[in-house]
Amino acid sequence: MMQYVNEYDTPECKTLSETAKKSIRTPESLGLDRCIQCGACTASCPAARFTDYSPRQIVKRVLENDRSVLESEMIWSCFYCYSCNVRCPRNNSPVTIVQVLRQMAINEGIGVEKLAYFLEIGEYLGENGASKVPGAGISNMERDLGERWIGIKRNLEPIRSELGLSARDVRDTHGEVQAILESTGYFEREKWIKARVQEKRIRGFLKTDRTGTSCTEKKKNSGDLGFESDREYTGQEALTV
Ligand code: SF4
Ligand code: SF4
Repeated sequence: MMQYVNEYDTPECKTLSETAKKSIRTPESLGLDRCIQCGACTASCPAARFTDYSPRQIVKRVLENDRSVLESEMIWSCFYCYSCNVRCPRNNSPVTIVQVLRQMAINEGIGVEKLAYFLEIGEYLGENGASKVPGAGISNMERDLGERWIGIKRNLEPIRSELGLSARDVRDTHGEVQAILESTGYFEREKWIKARVQEKRIRGFLKTDRTGTSCTEKKKNSGDLGFESDREYTGQEALTV
């Protein structure tokens, strides 16, 4: 077993469905074996509406113990809205099954690059005891939500004071959050993920090199899997939640 794999999260079992059922993420009452492939989950899934993603198919592949599902891009399309969880007539929960599959994939080094964007949250949590929206996310929010949102973010403290709210003091957790992250092995896990992402980036560079891409071009793309470049945010201070 890979180091830092949590046996409660992704217990090693003979089949994918056993792992999903035994995982601490899924409830005892999970109706995985009762799935009738009705497709209500896919019908209510916003991700399925815009992509080829299908929670019904994922459940089917899990029931068939098709381990290739771990390599499928599909498992990364869910964004945890839980509509499938609410709509399933058999008390199944494709969303939590997807969470288990993602974790299993990461344990095997598959899809680790998807986590690069989120590493900044963990780093910030460890340092400050609070969560934040990653820099790249802020840029997207600025684009999507526009000037009004930027204005609120810039003037958050005066707005809070006008509303009679105290100043935010998220930095004083007396190291409690850090201690929790330390004792749960978060920092070790983070190190492992960063190393895997870096390996993939290097492999990507080597592959690009063979196709004849110049060094300058490679440099421009170097942020694709990088945490550092994703963290660049030259605008306002990061929003603390
Ligand atoms: S809604 Fe439930 S029973 Fe229907 S296909 Fe999805 S998981 Fe299976
Ligand atoms: S939680 Fe995921 S799988 Fe379920 S409906 Fe939402 S996006 Fe689809």
